[in-house]
Amino acid sequence: MIGMIALASPTADAKKKSKKKSGGSKATSGSVYICTSPNAYAYHRNPNCPGLQRCSYSVKKVSKSSTSGMSPCRKCY
Ligand SMILES: [Zn+2]
Repeated sequence: MIGMIALASPTADAKKKSKKKSGGSKATSGSVYICTSPNAYAYHRNPNCPGLQRCSYSVKKVSKSSTSGMSPCRKCY
C-alpha cells in the first residue's frame, strides 16, 4: 500500500495552480474585433470599445492573424 501515499503527493497540486495562472492571458489573444469599414485601421480586444461604437458598419470577430496591416486599438490595447 505504499503506492497510495504517492498519489497524494503535494507537487501535483502545485503544478495545477501555475498552469491556470499562465492560461488566463493566453485565451484573449486568439481573436479580436474589427469594424468592417474600409477605413478601419485598428483591431480591438474589447467588443464594447468606444472606437468600435463609432463604427457605422458591422463589427466582426476575427482571428488576430488576419489583421495584418492593422494596428492595435490604443483604447483597449
Ligand atoms: Zn478599441
